Amino acid sequence: MNYLRMENLDLAGKRVMIREDLNVPISDGKITSDARIKASVPTIRMALEMGAAVLVLSHLGRPVEGEFDAQLSLQPVARRLGELLGRSVRLETDWLDGVDVEPGQVVLCENVRFNRGEKSNDPVLARTMASLCDVFVMDAFGTAHRAQASTEGIVRAAPLSCAGPLLSGELDALGKSLDDPARPMLAIVGGSKVSTKLKVLDALLNKVDELIVGGGIANTFIAASGFDVGRSLYEPDLIHDAQRLIQKVHAKGGSIPIPKDVVVAKSFSPDAEPMIRSVDEVGRDEMILDIGPLTAAEYSTVIAGSGTVIWNGPVGVFEFTGFAAGTRSIAEAIERSSAFSIAGGGDTLAAIDLFGVTQGISYISTGGGAFLEFVEGNSLPAVVALQEVGGSHLIQDTTLA
Ligand code: ADP
Ligand code: MG
Repeated sequence: MNYLRMENLDLAGKRVMIREDLNVPISDGKITSDARIKASVPTIRMALEMGAAVLVLSHLGRPVEGEFDAQLSLQPVARRLGELLGRSVRLETDWLDGVDVEPGQVVLCENVRFNRGEKSNDPVLARTMASLCDVFVMDAFGTAHRAQASTEGIVRAAPLSCAGPLLSGELDALGKSLDDPARPMLAIVGGSKVSTKLKVLDALLNKVDELIVGGGIANTFIAASGFDVGRSLYEPDLIHDAQRLIQKVHAKGGSIPIPKDVVVAKSFSPDAEPMIRSVDEVGRDEMILDIGPLTAAEYSTVIAGSGTVIWNGPVGVFEFTGFAAGTRSIAEAIERSSAFSIAGGGDTLAAIDLFGVTQGISYISTGGGAFLEFVEGNSLPAVVALQEVGGSHLIQDTTLA
């Protein structure tokens, strides 16, 4: 792809602003998965080693714009980033008026979403942010699908914009594996709702040889196959779409397997008692919260026989220990398999972290929504902007030469 890459620029003495995706899960002020912070470290370190003064931008959660919310402050992220970098990282609360930063230093700017105009991609806000740097580095794949002030607007407004190694690496790896996959290609799509993933399911069915659905999505497919799902999370309005997808796979000679057995509970809580049921025996008052052991073993065999595996979405409520076994089996089967495996999604990443299978997955995408958009074949606005401004800089360079 035609855009400037950070590693090819001279950043010595420059004020370099890096947009990362440090939107990590935080519970009671504690970071529960620092995977995204860890992923950003090589880029920040590279900029420091090149002699840059580094400003880091990120969003966290969904605050009301224009209002400070202590719950959504990046303070815990600044602390963790400092530990990982082995140097102190200052959190700058009011940074739009200007930030003091010297080469070799890292300053984390407070949650970009506290600023009015971030989500609507306000050009004035984008210009204000851009005026703080000499070089803007877009490195947040996870937000590249959103045209916002700190992702797309700033790329166009900054004196010079480029892609960071995390973003370009991610685009290269995903592009290669989707364009020319080792077959058979399997997609595993879990998570809570079909509605949020209907488009990606449709798009994947054009590419993959096999599809496994899990979680609340599977519940909708179970209902679409005529079984009673009791009080499970499912979407009755989407049963028709589920049936259409089943038909679509059948027409290609494939199938979307329905779990043979499931793990149910009478309440949605961490200490609810897990009970294994055949899929046709789910009680009226029960909820399906995981796939059962037979199904997990069957899916593991499918994974073992695949050349490429794309995974998005846990197949059960893995946050509750009694309902985590299915997702753990899937994660471990992917870890064991020799397939080229790509995983993405906020909760999927948390599961990968929890089950300690990071090393066994070929490529872990830091993006959730962006990962899905990319898999669907849509262009990502921030990347389009990088290509457009990158192209014009290249033209300017050749004109000057
Ligand atoms: P990702 O962030 O990886 O894209 P999603 O956000 O789509 O994944 O879905 C993750 C959520 O789905 C998890 O919080 C998990 O508890 C929930 N989930 C999985 N299976 C079920 C189920 N059977 N019933 C209710 N929620 C489920
Ligand atoms: Mg999620």
